[in-house]
Amino acid sequence: MHEFRYQQGELFCEGVSVEKLARRHGTPLYVYSRGTIESHFTRLNLALKPLDHMVCYAMKANSNLAVLSTLARLKAGFDIVSAGELYRVLRAGGDPSRCVFAGVGKTEDEIRFALKTGIYSFNVESEAELNRINRIGISMRKQAPVALRVNPNIEAHTHAKITTGTYENKFGIAYETIEGLYGRASRMAGIHVRGIQMHIGSQITTVAPFARAVRKMLPLVRMLRDRHQLEFFSIGGGIGIVYRPALESGRRMWWDPSRKRIRPAGAASLPLTIDLYARTLVPLLKPLGMRILLEPGRFIVGNAGILVTRVEYLKRTGRKNFVIVDAAMNDLIRPAFYDSYHQIVPLRQHPKSMAGMIKSDVVGPVCESGDYFAKDRPLVPVREGDYLSIMSAGAYGFAMASNYNTRPRPAEILVAGKTVKVGRKRETIAELVRGEAA
Ligand SMILES: *Cc1c(COP(=O)(O)O)cnc(C)c1O
Repeated sequence: MHEFRYQQGELFCEGVSVEKLARRHGTPLYVYSRGTIESHFTRLNLALKPLDHMVCYAMKANSNLAVLSTLARLKAGFDIVSAGELYRVLRAGGDPSRCVFAGVGKTEDEIRFALKTGIYSFNVESEAELNRINRIGISMRKQAPVALRVNPNIEAHTHAKITTGTYENKFGIAYETIEGLYGRASRMAGIHVRGIQMHIGSQITTVAPFARAVRKMLPLVRMLRDRHQLEFFSIGGGIGIVYRPALESGRRMWWDPSRKRIRPAGAASLPLTIDLYARTLVPLLKPLGMRILLEPGRFIVGNAGILVTRVEYLKRTGRKNFVIVDAAMNDLIRPAFYDSYHQIVPLRQHPKSMAGMIKSDVVGPVCESGDYFAKDRPLVPVREGDYLSIMSAGAYGFAMASNYNTRPRPAEILVAGKTVKVGRKRETIAELVRGEAA
């Protein structure tokens, strides 16, 4: 699934020692494997080959230009959520005519910029937004291509902060009102109704919610396709990845985030694979004869990146062992924000077995109790100055990083084979106060 492996006891990203990168570029440090990104994109593309399809990478997961240009070279489309992201696509050599623009709050300026650039479709999230896009289309003497985002009211069984496809969420337009709105949209002078879209949530780890949502949408999609000559159906993103690999117990186990427990991998609870996803959905979608769009973010980059950090201090209180590291919640907010699990491994493999593990809390230096990467986690014994790798940090890692506590954001490195590219330099403290006045 990814190209971070031990070679003679040392963690490598493809052909490069991660410790060498850490020494050369400092920590905290994001390291991405280009080969892993490419293989995820290519595998997904191949699995969907029976369909006329377009994979639009949801770039909010990781919008580094080096990552984008990697995908642009593979002719990826992009799912964007702001003018800034569209600017990044252009800077990375991406094709704007393969971009879809999502989000509930598109501003006038953003709509104008996207329409001028010639994107593939606006994914419209409300009637008010449709009216605004129509007005702007007319004023620019253009017909803005749109798809209405349908809220299928399907429970995705994922974390509450990343469930998007139920009526409790701000996203999309209620299933029951879609038909009337398509009628109105088709009569608007500044609008070209091009497709229909849905997205039910993120980090979905079984195929059932996808299948249920597609099945529920099919009659509506068929009817609107015939009535309005719709060209595409976007089934959104949300393909989950494995954050917690199989335990070393011999039995295949996996962490089910929806139930918050480890489950044995049986037929009924298979972790989602691309084959299973395609095997289930392609037969449902193929008879539509439409172009199918996908908007995966996490699946493409999640396991293609790690956050490397250095142990600063060991601290033992009455009950706990704290491993204080130089990365913090501002660098990777997922544990604090989504209660998410990240595997943590040393860059140099420890000879000790599971029995020698020490239950530890891995924490950062920020003054928040939420500033942790692991709690009560069996960890190999570490010392000051050792390096650790926080795995599966390629998606919603750097992209959600902030400067909280006036901490410069980490550098980002892209490895391809034995070559190393600095995708982004480490920020300096002086850069952090640029634009401020004392
Ligand atoms: C965030 C988002 C995605 C990507 O979700 P992943 O879980 O990263 O695949 C796709 N489409 C829309 C509309 C989104 O908001």
